[in-house]
Amino acid sequence: MTIATYERYAQMLDAARRGGYAYPAINVTSTQTLNAALQGFAEAESDGIIQVSVGGADYFSGQSVRDRVIGSLAFAAFAHEVAARYPRITTALHTDHCARQYLDEWVRPLLRHEIDQVACGHEPAFQSHMWDGSTVPLDENLNIAEELLEQSVKAHTILEIEIGAVGGEEDGHSAQIDEKLYSTPADGVKVAQRLGLGERGLYMAAFTFGNVHGSYKPGIVKLRPELLGDIQHEVAAAVRDGRVACAPRAFADSWREGGGDIKGGGAADEKPFALVFHGGSGSRPEEIAQAVSHGVVKMNVDTDTQYAFTRAVAGHMFEHYAGVLKIDGEIGEKRFYDPRSWGREAESAMAARVVEACQRLGSAGKALK
Ligand SMILES: [Zn+2]
Repeated sequence: MTIATYERYAQMLDAARRGGYAYPAINVTSTQTLNAALQGFAEAESDGIIQVSVGGADYFSGQSVRDRVIGSLAFAAFAHEVAARYPRITTALHTDHCARQYLDEWVRPLLRHEIDQVACGHEPAFQSHMWDGSTVPLDENLNIAEELLEQSVKAHTILEIEIGAVGGEEDGHSAQIDEKLYSTPADGVKVAQRLGLGERGLYMAAFTFGNVHGSYKPGIVKLRPELLGDIQHEVAAAVRDGRVACAPRAFADSWREGGGDIKGGGAADEKPFALVFHGGSGSRPEEIAQAVSHGVVKMNVDTDTQYAFTRAVAGHMFEHYAGVLKIDGEIGEKRFYDPRSWGREAESAMAARVVEACQRLGSAGKALK
């Protein structure tokens, strides 16, 4: 298996929810970092998710072109080709944080493209898309989510939503560090009432629990992963007492017409939401483990893999200073300034950080057969 089909992706997410582990979702901005992510997942024998942000998609298209749809489709086309050489792992492709101002020029055109692909009997370019409604009021966030969920079903993709706001700055997207960093159990019930629990389309939910993007020294913001458990418990209770009309289902059962046997039902009953963890760079291993225990199935990793890549480039440049530069009339050394020489080091260093993420999240060694 190479790039996930819709059904395979649903199975991956179910397996993680049932098995109590999560997939790293690695942000990439180039074919080098994309290859590094694949290398890392293969080394870890882990399935995984590779994603582009709004800025990453823009950059992929070429800095003088700056077309997010072209950049996203180019990324996906390249990924579909190279991922075919990693037969033992499955990778899903995702678009990260799409705020309201980018919907019409990014995720909506991609969804329309994918609906056409599916109508022609093909698999979609991407397997999931994130709608980031954290900057609009919850009701409006969910109105847009409802519309996008309908489109996602037709496109054979899974939707990711954000409830609350992730603080810090990423890719020109920034949010205050305030009470919106903590979503609430009542928000969870509202989401389940509005979007269902799988029967109307598959979605993952990033409920915020003090997350911030980027690297922060410890102590600036307090992560409260137990909040995710409170949200799951409250929604499970709301299903039991009828405040939420539909029972949660395993993803792989939800997408089939009429449902059928609910294989992952046990795990879905206790943890109605498949959760996403943003802004996890710099988090303590115990905080990550606690979040995963409450049903996180996808954790975004960007800052730490960016650093791993660039750190190796810096090491190369300092170590081979006289080879990469033409100093005092000398001619440098081609074998050190050939972009592949530092590129290979950078990709291997980033791949090693991806392996570490798979180990921490428990997905290492668990690639689906
Ligand atoms: Zn994020």
